[in-house]
Amino acid sequence: MILAIEKQVSLAQYTTLQVGGVADYFYRLTDEGELPELVAYAEEKNVPITILGGGSNVLIVDGPLHRLVLKNELRGHGVTVKGDGRTLFTVAAGEEWDSFVLRTVEEGFAGLENLSGIPGTVGAAPIQNINAYGAQVADVIESVRVFDTKTGDFRTLSKAECLFGYRESVFKTPAGASLVVTAVTFALAPAGVANLAYRSASQSIARYLEEQQITAPTVQDIRKAILHVRSNIGMLKGQFRSAGSFFKNTIVSAADFARVESIVLSQFAEQHKKLSPWYWILPDGRVKLSTAFLMECTAYNKSTYGEKRWQGVVGLSPRHSLSIVTEAGATASDVQVFVTEIITAVEIIFGVTIETEVNFIL
Ligand SMILES: Cc1cc2nc3c(=O)[nH]c(=O)nc-3n(C[C@H](O)[C@H](O)[C@H](O)COP(=O)(O)OP(=O)(O)OC[C@H]3O[C@@H](n4cnc5c(N)ncnc54)[C@H](O)[C@@H]3O)c2cc1C
Repeated sequence: MILAIEKQVSLAQYTTLQVGGVADYFYRLTDEGELPELVAYAEEKNVPITILGGGSNVLIVDGPLHRLVLKNELRGHGVTVKGDGRTLFTVAAGEEWDSFVLRTVEEGFAGLENLSGIPGTVGAAPIQNINAYGAQVADVIESVRVFDTKTGDFRTLSKAECLFGYRESVFKTPAGASLVVTAVTFALAPAGVANLAYRSASQSIARYLEEQQITAPTVQDIRKAILHVRSNIGMLKGQFRSAGSFFKNTIVSAADFARVESIVLSQFAEQHKKLSPWYWILPDGRVKLSTAFLMECTAYNKSTYGEKRWQGVVGLSPRHSLSIVTEAGATASDVQVFVTEIITAVEIIFGVTIETEVNFIL
């Protein structure tokens, strides 16, 4: 088979930040059966393979990128009803995530409603274990079908083998770096009870439902509320040139937390009073800190949202502190400088290094 591989393709157009360089080789993957041949091609050209979904969680450097980039356009759905009352949905990795969520919610299945409105593809959902409003996709993943570019095999990983954690999975470790996700199987509950975890995760969702006088929300009500709130905070695809939250929340040891807390109480009492809770104690004794709160104590705070603080083309979203936005003319280097400034500002005050959620493609 002759593969129609394009050469010297600009990748900025395929990312939501709309920055990034030119890839040596680029291919639209519509058939997983082509993967062995694509691996052989990459080996012949001596370049690594990079998978791109919707480009909504990447910062691609300005390049050139000596890579074979596979734009995931694998399509298809299958449904199996299991004897235990669950329904399994097997979805090709290149399907759009939110179209799949919409379909399950419209059909009354519970499990994905809290993850409404997240941009990107189905295949990328397990990569960082997408989460929002008290839900994480790992809770409903049954298995993940992968192609291993190292061994040339297709195989199916169980949920346990995916090693899901907070914004983490095996796919983000060296052991999973050679895996291409080609399909994901989800187990959803038909006529299921809506996930009410949003109540502790977001007061805005609860407030919206209260305003609508909805006391026992259905999965459809929750999707509607979440899309409403996401739109208010600029977290729907296309509202801004962003990659969503650029930073993860920050997990620290109990000792580091004690230091951070004493700095907050002595120097940032006002922010503490206004923005609590800003930390959560984890079952293993470590503490998750709100990175938005830490930033609020730096010069990168609410009063400066919306300002394009780096070269007039990169800044924080006017509606969300963790979201970095770009304007026409911005480059990936501009974004990288701005990100480094923020990380340094937090480090200087708290001695804590905040981590990026977005994947850097170098
Ligand atoms: C406005 C906005 C809001 C967002 N809100 C949220 C949110 O609430 N919660 C949340 O968790 N995320 C959120 N995100 C981040 C992003 O939407 C998700 O991480 C999404 O899953 C990325 O999908 P994608 O297809 O765009 O992946 P891409 O950005 O294309 O890729 C992301 C990473 O996964 C790898 N990858 C992609 N597909 C595959 C595959 N098939 N096999 C192997 N590796 C693969 C890529 O190489 C890359 O490293 C948001 C982003 C935006 C722009």
